Parts: sequence; structure tokens; C-alpha cells
Amino acid sequence: MSKNIQVLRPYFRVDETLEEIRECLERGWTGIGFKTEQFENAWKMYSGFEYAHFLNSATAGLHLAIKLFKEEFGWVDGDEVITTSLTFVSTNHAILYENLKPVFADVDNSLCLNPASVEALISNKTRAILYVGIGGNAANYKKIKQICAEKNLILILDAAHMSGTRWADTGEHVGLDADCSVFSYQAVKNLPSSDSGMICFKYKLLDQRARRQSWLGIDKSTYERFTEGSYKWRYDVPELGYKYNGNSIAAAMCLVSLRYLEQDNAHRRMLAATYDEFLSISSAIEVVKHDPSIISSRHLFQISVQNRDLVLESLYKNGIYCGVHYVANHNYSIYSNCKRDVKTSEYYSSSLVSLPMHLGVTKDDAANIATTLLAL
Ligand SMILES: *Cc1c(COP(=O)(O)O)cnc(C)c1O
Repeated sequence: MSKNIQVLRPYFRVDETLEEIRECLERGWTGIGFKTEQFENAWKMYSGFEYAHFLNSATAGLHLAIKLFKEEFGWVDGDEVITTSLTFVSTNHAILYENLKPVFADVDNSLCLNPASVEALISNKTRAILYVGIGGNAANYKKIKQICAEKNLILILDAAHMSGTRWADTGEHVGLDADCSVFSYQAVKNLPSSDSGMICFKYKLLDQRARRQSWLGIDKSTYERFTEGSYKWRYDVPELGYKYNGNSIAAAMCLVSLRYLEQDNAHRRMLAATYDEFLSISSAIEVVKHDPSIISSRHLFQISVQNRDLVLESLYKNGIYCGVHYVANHNYSIYSNCKRDVKTSEYYSSSLVSLPMHLGVTKDDAANIATTLLAL
């Protein structure tokens, strides 16, 4: 092939994005407030989430979700959160940050949590289930939600890959019924900025707490103090918080990316359909299917192959730079002692390949990549 193709790559509408950023620079306001509020409102309008707070990353959001539920419900150190091993480490770091224990339930061939494995691992110390919509998939989500309702567990959705993923029947965004959903707008996610994220609690109180916690525990943001009258320098710090807030430059980038999200996700789905069509004839390649009841963001297109490393190397020689999402976290030293049921996660951890999936890949590229793959 004539051009080298990366697995993931952000696509920015440069002039439109610079215009949006220009407004911040001219106004002299690049921090929290102004564009961050505009983007929170635009996101709520688009997604249907009632509450949304803009942060500097999804990692920060996942930490806040775990921390605030822990405080709110009186969880204690050593309590357990059932999660997946087949994810980016941010998901599980959030649990460790709060001295809780990740318990790794297995996935099924959707790469999402297997409800039977989850149920088998529920103990009297289980407090929450952390579900990852890997690649924009939502397989088994409704079943997991049902388990949470039955067992009185909190459901946290790691929606880092899920911006724009909807239920096909209602058109509703996935995650509206979770206790908290966390989105990533990191550069190579499907709603790209520089680095940022969104935390969407189902509860007003926790949304307010997230705002304060992400601003060092200060009871008023600088923007509120900037826009109010006298005594603007006065504030209280009732609690210890973090510097997790998002800024107006990243929010400006997000505002533009959001305008094109539906269009971009449609392009991703077109690429997925192209890969699907070509690869379905192969018995050596297992294509990871997304649940037919959703309209997926299609952040990833994943296949599973034997001798994965060889396949990656051969594609690389053809200028096709694929990725692996993910090495199962229990393979990392820090997670090696966690309680787990991970046979299927382990299998996919050693066989997954993510094919190029972004706005710079054309239908012809996808067809060529699939043909190259079939010829290996
Ligand atoms: C990228 C990612 C995160 C972290 O997102 P950041 O915004 O980079 O902190 C969390 N979970 C998953 C599954 C991710 O892919």
C-alpha cells in the first residue's frame, strides 16, 4: 500500500477548531468556565444526560466516581468492585486509588463483561460493578444493569469509547441509567480534544460534589468569582479536593468535535461494515461483533487471530500499524494478585488485533487492509 496507516489518529477540523479557541484567547479566558460550560450544555443537549461535568481526563472522572460513591455510601477500604481485566489501566487504577479491590470477572466473545462470571464473583464485600463499553460495544449491558438492581450494587460505566453509542430501538444514549458514566475525549478517542473527559452522575448532589472535588475542594470556581460582583476573592475550602477540572481550550476542541460526532461515527460504522464484509469469509479470523441492539460509536474494530504477533509484524511491513486493546490487566505486576475469573480475557489478551479505525481511513483503505490480512 502506498501510505502508512496508523491504528488510531485524531482528525481535527483545523480552521473551525482554531476559531473556537480564538474566542478563548481574545476573551482572555482559557481555564474552567466559559467554554467548559458551553460544552457541558452542548453535551447534555446532545446525549440526554441530566448532569455532566467537564474534567481533564476520564481517568480523573473514574477516580471521582469511585471516591464519591465510597464516601456517599460508606464503603470501606478493602471493599470490592467487580470489573474487567481487558481494559485500559485507568479503569482499574480508579479502584486502587481508593483502596478498594478490583475483582476481575471474565468477558465473553463480545469482550464485555460476562454476566454469569460477574454473578459468581459477587460477595458480601461487593459494592459496585464497573462496566467498560469496549470499542463502543454495549453487549450484556442491560443484563449487568439488572444484576446491579437485584443485588443493590452501583453501576459505573467506563464510557471512554462510547460517545454517541445509542440503543437502536429508542435512540437513547447508552449509560443514561447507570449511576455514573464517564467519557474520554483524549486525543485518539472518538470525540477527540487534546486531553479531557466528562463525568455524568445520575444524581444532582454527586454532580455538585464532583464540581467541588475537581476544583481542589474550593466552594466556588474562579469563573463564578470572575462573573459575580464584589467579594469575588472570598471563598471557603470545606474539603480536600483535586485539580481535575477541564479547561476552555480543550472544551473548545470538544465543541467542534461534537458537531461532527454523528457524521464521524457513521464513517466508523461504514469502515466496520467494510471490514466485516471482507473478513467474514475467513475461518482463521474471528471478528469481534458489536451488539445488534446498539448503534455503536465503533471506536474500535477488533479481530482475534492465532499467532497474533506475527500478524501484527506482517501488517506493519505493509505499512499497516495495528494495535492491541488490551493486554489483560492481571498480566501487569500491580494487578497480578487480584481475585479473578479471566480465562476468556486471557485468550483475547493474546489474540486481539485492532485494525485502523479513524477518519483518515477510507473505504478503499479498509478493503485493502482486509485483503492484505486475508493474504497473510
Ligand atoms: C482512554 C481510556 C480511559 C482513560 O481516558 P483518559 O481521558 O485518557 O484519562 C479509560 N478507560 C478506557 C477504556 C480508555 O480507553
